[in-house]
Amino acid sequence: MAMALQFDTDVQFVKGVGPKLGDVFRRRGIARVQDLLEFYPRAYEDRRAIRQIRSLVPDQLVSIKAQIQKIRSFNLGKSRRKVYDVVIGDASGRISCKYFRVPYKGYFERFQPFQEVRVIGKVTQYRGVLEFHHPDIHPITEDEENTNELISIYTEIEGQSSAKIARLIRSVLSSEHPIPDPMPFWIVKENGLLPLDRALQEIHVPKLEEADAFLNFQAPSQRRLIFDEFFMIELHMALKRAGVEKEKSTPIQAQGLWPQRLEASLEFELTGAQKRSFAEIISDLRKPHPMHRLVQGDVGSGKTLVALLAAAFAAEGEMQTALMVPTEILAEQHYANASRRLAPLGMRVALLTSQVKGKERAVILQALKAGEIDVCIGTHALIQDDVEFAKLGLVIVDEQHRFGVEQRNKLKAKGLSPHFLVMTATPIPRTLAMTVYGDLDVSVIDELPKGRQPIVTRKTFASKRDLVMGFVRDQIKKGRQAYIVYPLVDESETMDLKNALEEYTKVKAEFSDFSVGLLHGRMKSSEKDEIMQGFRRNEIQILVATTVIEVGVDVPNANIMVIEHAERFGLSQLHQLRGRVGRGEYKSYCVLVLGYALSEEATKRAEIMESTNDGFKIAEADLEMRGPGEFLGTKQSGLPGFKLGNLVRDIKILQEARAAAFALAARDPDLKRPEHQMVRAKLESFHKMWVG
Ligand code: ADP
Ligand code: MG
Repeated sequence: MAMALQFDTDVQFVKGVGPKLGDVFRRRGIARVQDLLEFYPRAYEDRRAIRQIRSLVPDQLVSIKAQIQKIRSFNLGKSRRKVYDVVIGDASGRISCKYFRVPYKGYFERFQPFQEVRVIGKVTQYRGVLEFHHPDIHPITEDEENTNELISIYTEIEGQSSAKIARLIRSVLSSEHPIPDPMPFWIVKENGLLPLDRALQEIHVPKLEEADAFLNFQAPSQRRLIFDEFFMIELHMALKRAGVEKEKSTPIQAQGLWPQRLEASLEFELTGAQKRSFAEIISDLRKPHPMHRLVQGDVGSGKTLVALLAAAFAAEGEMQTALMVPTEILAEQHYANASRRLAPLGMRVALLTSQVKGKERAVILQALKAGEIDVCIGTHALIQDDVEFAKLGLVIVDEQHRFGVEQRNKLKAKGLSPHFLVMTATPIPRTLAMTVYGDLDVSVIDELPKGRQPIVTRKTFASKRDLVMGFVRDQIKKGRQAYIVYPLVDESETMDLKNALEEYTKVKAEFSDFSVGLLHGRMKSSEKDEIMQGFRRNEIQILVATTVIEVGVDVPNANIMVIEHAERFGLSQLHQLRGRVGRGEYKSYCVLVLGYALSEEATKRAEIMESTNDGFKIAEADLEMRGPGEFLGTKQSGLPGFKLGNLVRDIKILQEARAAAFALAARDPDLKRPEHQMVRAKLESFHKMWVG
């Protein structure tokens, strides 16, 4: 008699798997029966419609039958990167399948010319030609030939064909053992969800009459399983939030006189959005639960000042503030800013970075502990174990997307449930904000300071470099300053650094009548400082820099941003870089200089940049182009990837799942009721996956 399979039975006990294949599966994260059942088809193929190569259009996910014509490999440009090209054809035409790495050993050796294969992948357009990038190619097997329905197509796992995987999954589904449904029944009912066992059955063995629904991700089985994915995250958020609301913290007792004095000392008026955000913050700070608030505002919207106002409020209430930022340059800048604006109120401000050492550091640590410092600004150096505060009441994290969850928590742990404020310029589309920041309240600064003019953005090619530099020269003659940014994706990449240095030498020669500075991540802090100071004082007119200046840097007199090899940057990075200009009264320009190895996507990114300055629109476009997984590094967001769900496509399901999760958290915040035991266990196993 076969062993009864449980949901958490080791996958190797599934009939037809065994220890060896079990290892292969485990390497792909399929360790238990449940994981195998959650290995959903990558696509469905309706065998009634035969697709021809000539009929393909870009961006379609397709499965086609064709013949191998040629297998070759070549080097990409001058680099040593090898590209493999499998050319396939049918009666209507031919198409290339390109691989930029070998999927697994022996992958290409399996094919011979004239062999019949099935190719599954997304059609991509590159320089006007259609091709596949990293499709699954597998020989047509007999059992595939014999079926005649809507076929589930699985991503191959190290040579295990889609048909074989389908067979294994079917055998699990047909084993008599019931599949437990962790979702509380009332939620299943209220939301009209399919029972879990039926959903799993139908997603793997779809009904032909649902073919269209499946292709559009609207089949009831898909809805149920997508709902589950979103539900777990939203439940996590809902409980976290319920926890925060129960947590006690010291309300900050202040009248708000210090912030008023700060406001009165400014040479400009606060924007309405700044005022509104600050009012929201004050109302949180006065509550006996810790604030958990995100201030989201586009680059240049004046978030720093909102942070300083909050710090002034805390100091008036005799509480300390810690302000953490991702780079030393930014820490220095905030420190200078805070000293200038807060010292006149009698506030004591300190700077703590890894550059602050020895005796100087000891003095600051001592003062922090004694409560003699009101605001401490710093980098990761703030979360060192020996940094202690007397009365840390407010924790602010600027450019929070640059930090991991753990780092933020570590800083919070230095106070007794301190109020917590995070700031980000990465505008997140609302749908995504609901999941990523589902446990935070959000203030949006959706207004730029008065008098800002939109930044004019133009893309151009390296061949037009002289024109660009001529334009830079004109502006500098008028007293302005420029950034020329060179991509250095990885600061440890020696090749790239060499290129950036060459660029610097070239610019220096071209602008010998002006002063040109260089800034990159591998310079010593003191050197970086000196250069930044020089640029701020306009002793340096042109700053050749790597992306170290990407976040936060604020020099209002600079009005030109030239981005070299703009094709190598992602949309949010381009937007951040562009945000270094347009911060003052001068009309500002951003020039995207494109190299030649240009993909369709890079061109599209440049065009999006030309078309809008609105960070929210750019973020939407970015999300659409890249998908949520890549949009936010999983690490920062603490989000698992979704197997089926798509935050753009499935927003309605997301909203329903969120409402259900919050309803559950309200009914049973500790998930103590018997009917909630299973969902609780599932959440715990999720936590393990997310955290450890
Ligand atoms: P970000 O939101 O990108 O962090 P900053 O806080 O660096 O923006 O502010 C950008 C610039 O705008 C700074 O030079 C700041 O002094 C200035 N600024 C902030 N608020 C206002 C305002 N209400 N009116 C005019 N300028 C402002
Ligand atoms: Mg900022």
